[in-house]
Amino acid sequence: MTHSTDVIVVGGGPAGATASALIAKAGYQVSLLEAQAFPRFHVGESLIPAVNLTLERLGVLDRMNDYRFPNKHGVQFFSPKGPGRPFYFSEATDPRMHQTWQVLRSDFDAMLLDTAVANGVTTFMGTRALEALRDGDRVTGIRATNGHGEEMRFDARVVIDASGQGGVVAKRLSRRVGVADLENLSVFAHYSNAHIDDGIDAGSTLIFRLDTKSWLWFIPLPDVVSVGLVAPSKAIWSFGDEPESVLDNAIAACPHLMQRLEEASRTTDVHVARDFSYVAQDEGGEGWLLAGDALGFIDPVYSSGLFLAVHSAELAADAIDAAFKAGGDPRFDGYAGAYRSNWDRFLSIVRAYYTEGFHFGPIAKNAEGRQGLVDILTGDVGTPSADRVAKEIAATLAG
Ligand SMILES: Cc1cc2nc3c(=O)[nH]c(=O)nc-3n(C[C@H](O)[C@H](O)[C@H](O)COP(=O)(O)OP(=O)(O)OC[C@H]3O[C@@H](n4cnc5c(N)ncnc54)[C@H](O)[C@@H]3O)c2cc1C
Repeated sequence: MTHSTDVIVVGGGPAGATASALIAKAGYQVSLLEAQAFPRFHVGESLIPAVNLTLERLGVLDRMNDYRFPNKHGVQFFSPKGPGRPFYFSEATDPRMHQTWQVLRSDFDAMLLDTAVANGVTTFMGTRALEALRDGDRVTGIRATNGHGEEMRFDARVVIDASGQGGVVAKRLSRRVGVADLENLSVFAHYSNAHIDDGIDAGSTLIFRLDTKSWLWFIPLPDVVSVGLVAPSKAIWSFGDEPESVLDNAIAACPHLMQRLEEASRTTDVHVARDFSYVAQDEGGEGWLLAGDALGFIDPVYSSGLFLAVHSAELAADAIDAAFKAGGDPRFDGYAGAYRSNWDRFLSIVRAYYTEGFHFGPIAKNAEGRQGLVDILTGDVGTPSADRVAKEIAATLAG
């Protein structure tokens, strides 16, 4: 079976759904291959407000409240000594970013994929991309297999790899540059009957530090909360022998979290995810580009993953539109410069979080520093205040 189209997108997660919807909106033919059946479970449930801008562009911002997704007004960090002052997005510079949502990914991702279909994208569910088809350096399509084991061939002018951390095309065409000391693992599950704060704090993300390298998240979702541990891959099994005991023991080691889960029951299996930070050396080439986790990934302590994923998808869609309008053979080297700037900025504050003796407190004490930190936490990382804070952090880290 051979199909021909303008653009093939591998992966129907937030990056693939966003890119394909926007490319179809611009008037091109798009086919999207997704290995799994939707809805499907996925980690990564806390949005930061900069995602709102992409949701607005996709025309789905008004639908977010239909899913009972908790409104997220801020984030609060706990040290082993106790809670820090919460950061509220209402303090952010851009009023479009004064709140966002915590999302059940099965619903959120299905909603984005439905939006792609509504824009004219043809989806091939249960279809797994196997490799990129190439003519010399140029990528010309994808070889795939469907749920019946039949081989399929998709010819396209451009291939986007949005297949997540697996990066089926990315791993062949580019090299992943890892970040030393951010080789973490995560174990996580959902719980019912947790104690949730009242009022504006009810939907906040809570981050509980265990030690310099390990922390737990608490993310309120419809009817349940998501709780996860992030720790160095070499050290995480010191908490226990199995994912269940690792998570139980980590929670037990954190009294401020434990008191919220005293009457709670686990409603899912305990999942394990690789949590290594990396970015692709090459973001694209002749006839291909990478988006979302296939392009890069940063430790989730600031919930930046979905923002980076949908932002890269927007850049990819715009680059393809521009290349098609320009004519000739489309090339995408260097298309994601703005993504790399955002990735770098998040990396610097992620590094600060994991640096022994580094404290955000002194920065947050003065008004401008606090403004800059809030802007970064919303994903509005290029404001003058965010720039100043990022430089201050970089200078402190450099010693
Ligand atoms: C422990 C952890 C916690 C996180 N917490 C947060 C958080 O709180 N907030 C946040 O914003 N981000 C978080 N993230 C990051 C977030 O999950 C990702 O950045 C986001 O899911 C990336 O979206 P994506 O579309 O690139 O990839 P994905 O969402 O992974 O989607 C990729 C899709 O491609 C499909 N696919 C894979 N291989 C193939 C193939 N060969 N053929 C066809 N289809 C294929 C998959 O089935 C999948 O549906 C977290 C990540 C981890 C590991």
